[in-house]
Amino acid sequence: MKDATKQALPPCPYCREPLDSGHLYCGRCGRDPSAPRRPCPKCGRVTPTAERACWNCGAAFKSDMRWKVALIVGLFLLSFVLSIVLALVKVLFS
Ligand SMILES: [Zn+2]
Ligand SMILES: [Zn+2]
Repeated sequence: MKDATKQALPPCPYCREPLDSGHLYCGRCGRDPSAPRRPCPKCGRVTPTAERACWNCGAAFKSDMRWKVALIVGLFLLSFVLSIVLALVKVLFS
């Protein structure tokens, strides 16, 4: 009897615990099953987007910071190369 009502509800996307109707948060892991989530690149389990590390294996999500670091390094290299070119131009045409 109880199994029939439990099967109608989808399990928790994080810990696979069957969810009770009327509860906004999972009774086992305490997470919101309707919150936006993303898959972990390491273990494949989904983690809420608001969390910075995978709840299952502890892998940190660094993907949103990586392009900023690349941009800063690229700008630094560009200004470095430009200053060298300008110095060469000054030496050659003086
Ligand atoms: Zn859960
Ligand atoms: Zn993981």
